[in-house]
Amino acid sequence: MNSLWNNTEAAGFPGELGLRVYTSRLLGRDRSLVLHGGGNTSVKTIETTILGDEVEVLWVKGSGWDLETIERAGFTALRRAPLLRLAKLRQLTDPEMVNALMTERTDAAAPVPSVEAILHAVLPAKFVDHTHADAVVTITNTPDGEARARALWGDRLVVVPYVMPGFELARMAAELFEREAGPQTVGLLLLNHGIFSFGASARESYERMIELVALAEDHLHAAGAWDLPVPAADPNTPPPRLETARLRRALADAAGFPLVLRTERDARTLAFARRADVAELTQHGPATPDHVIRTKRRPLLGRDVAAFTREYQAEFTRCAARAAEAKQMLDPAPRVILDFEFGLVTAGRSVKDAAIAAEIYRHTMDIQERAALLGGFRALPEQDLFDVEYWDLEQAKLARAGVPPVLAGEVALVTGAASGIGRAVAEALLARGAAVVGLDLDPKVVGLWPRADFLGLQADVTSREDLERALDATVTAFGGLDLLVLNAGAFAQGSPIANLSDELFRGQMALHADANLAFLRASHPLLALAPRGGRVVVVASKNVPAPGPGAGAYSAAKAAVTQLARVAALEWGKDGIRVNVVHPNAVFDTGVWTDEVLQARAAAYELTIDEYKRSNVLGTEITSKDVAEVVAELLGPRFAKTTGAQIPVDGGNDRVI
Ligand code: ZN
Repeated sequence: MNSLWNNTEAAGFPGELGLRVYTSRLLGRDRSLVLHGGGNTSVKTIETTILGDEVEVLWVKGSGWDLETIERAGFTALRRAPLLRLAKLRQLTDPEMVNALMTERTDAAAPVPSVEAILHAVLPAKFVDHTHADAVVTITNTPDGEARARALWGDRLVVVPYVMPGFELARMAAELFEREAGPQTVGLLLLNHGIFSFGASARESYERMIELVALAEDHLHAAGAWDLPVPAADPNTPPPRLETARLRRALADAAGFPLVLRTERDARTLAFARRADVAELTQHGPATPDHVIRTKRRPLLGRDVAAFTREYQAEFTRCAARAAEAKQMLDPAPRVILDFEFGLVTAGRSVKDAAIAAEIYRHTMDIQERAALLGGFRALPEQDLFDVEYWDLEQAKLARAGVPPVLAGEVALVTGAASGIGRAVAEALLARGAAVVGLDLDPKVVGLWPRADFLGLQADVTSREDLERALDATVTAFGGLDLLVLNAGAFAQGSPIANLSDELFRGQMALHADANLAFLRASHPLLALAPRGGRVVVVASKNVPAPGPGAGAYSAAKAAVTQLARVAALEWGKDGIRVNVVHPNAVFDTGVWTDEVLQARAAAYELTIDEYKRSNVLGTEITSKDVAEVVAELLGPRFAKTTGAQIPVDGGNDRVI
């Protein structure tokens, strides 16, 4: 662990608050110090109010901000003097504390301050840094952790026994600090939780944190508890597809809503999941209490979701009876699964949540294995962890995320996603909260959207190998498949039947009929396991109900896939899978409509290009987005009772009507 302080970089952050932002980001950059919203920092300054009064304020990290990306706006300024008086109260409930903090803000628009604000206020130093450093919690989460810690840091840290974060912690830490801090003291050690450092400057406080954590790392090295066994070669094979989708279904049934699963099946996770002592290591609790919000108290070992759910309910009943106020049980589905065959699997209502759980758990694996080498991993008692998992303030953080979008936790696969209708469909599904896999022959699909809930794969939909690869990638990234949009296509050059070559006809059939049959067939077992029932939309064409001269191959191929979709609707209703078809017409912002094709089609109807574009009953132009919105709605709950339908998106066509 080394200081990342850089004078040139620091110069870009003027002022005390600027440097507070800078060193907070330095802490956030190192994931072994803080993970996803963990940790917090502060600085004390003198500010002049609008009335001209000088007042000492504490700038403390706002809730919902990550240190790695924090900005000035992520810090809330609180008048310090009333906070010091609050710390002297005998009792203060969480809602009272939050209300008191909110009323001491100097800016009504500033975010909700960290629940550790009072603790930051009582520490006299100007800059205060707090992390949940891996190496520190590794040492304190062992049977003789406190003794080791006292021997290691001596009088540099005041040791604070575990107590719930918030008012109680601030009060106890303030008392201990007053009693025990000496000239050597540069921070606090919070047993089973984390570490505080402080200093007169941003750099001093930050570098003390680095030094204190480096001491912990050195201790682990010296104790032979740093280097972990190197697992055998990386298998990197995809997880078994159907078993993964079955696990996802069981988790979704337990949770009461669909979840995305992320599978990390590599040598490291497999070796950990296969440890003989995996139960003993993992079943007590997380490395630091706030991880329970993301990972629950413990992972599921294996795949018996029902047993996990039963135990979770029993634990809830036990702990809720001892809680100060009435609690409502959260969904009992596990968020982390360790499995002999899968390695590490994490679940989330969004891809982001699953990724956060995975990253936290990778750190947890290191901490637990190193703690085992020190004599055993010891987490907090279940009641303490329950109190954090069911803490109103933590639940309020989650609630601030709002109502999840309509397709949250669901997984879509869209063919022909690089441009036109396919791209617009992918966008419409992402906007509705689905995780999306986009396939296209065009390699630009890969980098279409740099976001975790989109996976772009270059693939030839007529290749069975590419199809298998795409389904494996879908299941590895997201755990299953709920929504299938068969859109890939190409309009063949017009050719009257008298001249229609077998080659052209076969090409159109291979692309629109054979390839989509293969997708339907291979996707069926996954769609049948979709928690809310699988849904398929085939993007066919107006040419199915109203073919045009010279478009024999295209029309016949699109008619073939339409018939396949109708039969699939009949056959798969019993599996809860809905299959519908859209028939777009004259969508000119797609790859199909090259200028050449446009001219040829307009000529075939003896129209100008502009007349051809608007030659529909409504006299309107149809865009890819118009079609995509219809497709997305067909996949959503509004059409829950509709299957086997064919919906025109063509501005009204007198030949179809
Ligand atoms: Zn903390």
